[in-house]
Amino acid sequence: MAKITLSNLRHSYLPNPKGPEDYALKEIDLDWQDGGAYALLGPSGCGKSTLLNIISGLLTPSEGRILFDDRDVTDLPPDQRNIAQVFQFPVIYDTMTVRQNLAFPLKNRGVSPAKIAERVAEISEMLEVQDMLDIRASHLSPDNKQKISMGRGLVRDDVNVVMFDEPLTVIDPHLKWKLRSKLKELHQKVRATMIYVTHDQTEALTFADQVVVMQDGEIVQIGTPVELFDRPQHTFVGHFIGSPGMNILPASVDAGQVIFNGQTVTVEGPVQGDGGKTELGIRPEFVALADTGVAARVRKVSDVGRHAVIETMVGDTPVKAVVESANVEQGAEVHLAFRPDQTRLYRDGWITTEAFS
Ligand code: ADP
Ligand code: MG
Repeated sequence: MAKITLSNLRHSYLPNPKGPEDYALKEIDLDWQDGGAYALLGPSGCGKSTLLNIISGLLTPSEGRILFDDRDVTDLPPDQRNIAQVFQFPVIYDTMTVRQNLAFPLKNRGVSPAKIAERVAEISEMLEVQDMLDIRASHLSPDNKQKISMGRGLVRDDVNVVMFDEPLTVIDPHLKWKLRSKLKELHQKVRATMIYVTHDQTEALTFADQVVVMQDGEIVQIGTPVELFDRPQHTFVGHFIGSPGMNILPASVDAGQVIFNGQTVTVEGPVQGDGGKTELGIRPEFVALADTGVAARVRKVSDVGRHAVIETMVGDTPVKAVVESANVEQGAEVHLAFRPDQTRLYRDGWITTEAFS
């Protein structure tokens, strides 16, 4: 296993890139620690696969270096990087049996038959595919094909990193949660550095100790799931993570006071600087119905199991609240209380407030 360092990485698919908009990856600096469980999370097209393919060597970056344990591997071909990559769609040999498929990456590297048998037994047990070992891969369901594809990624014990690129895309929804927890378990067992790429926050947050959130070829925040929830560094993270996401509300600052729709709102700490696009960020979990506060009108109430989501309008701005039980009806005039220590201020997308300590 190894620590992976990405230094000043930039990548453009164009021969003569000009502005930042020509780059699929804008400027990436990142350290992945040995043995960590990481997720790379971001919407489709933000550059996740580009980044993975640069780490594995399928792509050479336009600029910057990749280091494994401080050794520069930027110019090494994929087969010399000791990486296992699991793709969105299964990569297996249809004419081989499951056993032969799992053994292939080891056989290819001259591992002894005894060792191969041992690893195949271990991996097939972890993935619960022991009873399929002698079936030809062409007879497998898409779910099982992808399981075997994952097994092929995990079977070697000498890899620097195992990377999964949206591996659950082809998996049936009801099996997804099962494979997801399986992967987490596998990480705890094998302790390899794993990078899991997805656009699905649930997959990222359940798998990873550290989540790297990307938008438009840039990293907007790296943090634990709790950190991403608590203090989104960027409005994009606030909105993208959480269900429903953070309320991002247009605001202005007047004499050190934050104003939203003509009303003063107390934020978590001192208000610094001015200018730029000013926005308030507050998670629906910290918006409550109260006797006083921001005047709002209820637009919709949805019961979602253990809690209710109240969608309101404050002027023209939608604001959501998550409450334990909603005893209001559509059309009601209410007041919203924003919990001050959870109310953040953003300028041009980035957080500006710091909590009083
Ligand atoms: P993600 O995996 O997050 O969906 P990608 O890394 O596949 O994103 O793509 C990032 C950007 O690079 C997108 O704008 C995409 O259209 C572009 N892109 C990806 N692959 C190629 C390619 N082979 N040639 C040209 N542009 C590409
Ligand atoms: Mg992709």
